[in-house]
Amino acid sequence: MGRVMWSLLKSRCACVALAVAAVLVVVCWAISYPLMVRAGLAASIGQDHYELCSYRGIACVTIIENVPSPEQRSLSVRRTESFIANHWDDLYWGDSYAGFWAEDGSVWLSGEHGQSVNVRCISFAVPYWMVTALLALVPASELTRAARRRWRSMHGRCTDCGYPWLPAAGGECPACAARAHLIAPTPRTRLVSPIA
Ligand SMILES: [Zn+2]
Repeated sequence: MGRVMWSLLKSRCACVALAVAAVLVVVCWAISYPLMVRAGLAASIGQDHYELCSYRGIACVTIIENVPSPEQRSLSVRRTESFIANHWDDLYWGDSYAGFWAEDGSVWLSGEHGQSVNVRCISFAVPYWMVTALLALVPASELTRAARRRWRSMHGRCTDCGYPWLPAAGGECPACAARAHLIAPTPRTRLVSPIA
């Protein structure tokens, strides 16, 4: 199962999709420095409310459970201010592990009739550098592999193992053929073996 997933991931389509996603994340990362972007999903009373905040290299997700009053869908963009930036950096970069941060706490919200209600609030922050690195991992390794194969074929080497030989001479790479023979003997070699 793992091997099938890996070969699917490595397929060209998946590589292109991952590379595009990585570029989009880098764009969000760059925008996160001058602008604070907040987005929230709508929630009815008793539902969970999800909020995303992107700011200063961090994407922070907040889940407020069991909201006591309806929450509207929201999107806000504001320019950065130095005191907010300093506070944010202290919390998410100063007191975190390379931008990773999580908290399971509670928050007071006003209910439908104006009463204060204490509800559970879970927040976690993920740094953009980590998301970018994860998305770019497979495309970057595939790109490196393709470049290596190209370099080998241009320099008269076997594209699989780098053994210096001239493919123009025809036949198969002596190093690869020897290795394949060692790893997986063909049925014919077993038949002619004296033990069999
Ligand atoms: Zn070879």
